[in-house]
Amino acid sequence: MIELDGAAGEGGGQILRSALALSLCTGQPMTIRRIRARRPKPGLMRQHLACVNAAVAISGAKAAGAELGSQELVFEPGTVRPGDYSFHVGTAGSCSLVLQTILPPLMMAQSASRVMLGGGTHNPMAPPFHFLERCFAPLLNRLGVGLALELRRMGFYPAGGGEFGALITPAAGGLAPVDLIERGALRGAYAECLAPGLPSRVASRELEAVGRLLGWTPEQLITPAVRQNEGPGNALMATLVHEHVTELVTAFGEKGVSSEAVAASLSKEVLALQRGTGALGPHLADQWILPLALAVVGTKKPASFTCTEMTDHATTNIGVIEAFLPVRFEVAESGPSLWRVSLAARI
Ligand code: ATP
Repeated sequence: MIELDGAAGEGGGQILRSALALSLCTGQPMTIRRIRARRPKPGLMRQHLACVNAAVAISGAKAAGAELGSQELVFEPGTVRPGDYSFHVGTAGSCSLVLQTILPPLMMAQSASRVMLGGGTHNPMAPPFHFLERCFAPLLNRLGVGLALELRRMGFYPAGGGEFGALITPAAGGLAPVDLIERGALRGAYAECLAPGLPSRVASRELEAVGRLLGWTPEQLITPAVRQNEGPGNALMATLVHEHVTELVTAFGEKGVSSEAVAASLSKEVLALQRGTGALGPHLADQWILPLALAVVGTKKPASFTCTEMTDHATTNIGVIEAFLPVRFEVAESGPSLWRVSLAARI
């Protein structure tokens, strides 16, 4: 039984999601105490409970303490069963975080799975759908995994109602580790404003301000079409397409926050990313660690990557991964906004 302290490091929901994923991948049972102890509302919230329930559904696991508000979970995994699944958070909570939980075990399974996910598709503090599609899926592909995503409907806080499908195809012959050291030359950059259910001036003002702040031309400023039944909600996204890695930065609009402030927050993050030289930005880095560790352990071949920032989130994730997998991480700061992370299997 692996015992984890949910208050360790950054003390949020990532410990739970990574632990569920790794428990299913390795077959090791685990207990987490003090779940999300460092969050204002500790314990399992609807979105976290959806992650636990999804982990149970794909494996027939036994879970004690799988209730709203619960701060302790005992999880005994079963055998992962690839197949067709549908998981709905039931609120505007992020459904991409549900995918984050079940993707590692399903991508290691014997056959493909189709998963329909419902809830929020564009949430602060979670990977937005477009980030998964443009940035994360192509990286997974380099490990040999297929992740095809289809957005049915965008969902934002507080209305939710979003939905997307994921087709997960495991790597034929197992995961193959790759090094990601350089992001490569910038091939394209554009901003998009999603503002379903809001007056059109929201999008035009935000994009205009981004253009001014980043010096981008009108061709780089896009308002994608939205469906009638989406929103209301507002996500302003900037996509940076590099030779080896695509990054997507998002800022969310809310009531009482001006369009200019949303654009300023996005631009600040874009500029910070552009100043850094690491291959991966902070979010891609913390999401890349787990699948890469599985590939390193499976093949016993080392791998490394560089990133612009080593967040508490990533460091906490490393702690969870080391509790489950025979892998050693070395993290070294090798310049301003440049970190190198090396992984090797422990023999
Ligand atoms: P909670 O305890 O409330 O569940 P948490 O610690 O689990 O919080 P976060 O730190 O907010 O959650 O991050 C959740 C995940 O979402 C991480 O994998 C993080 O990289 C990812 N994420 C957060 N914001 C973004 C973003 N703008 N773009 C891409 N991924 C993001």
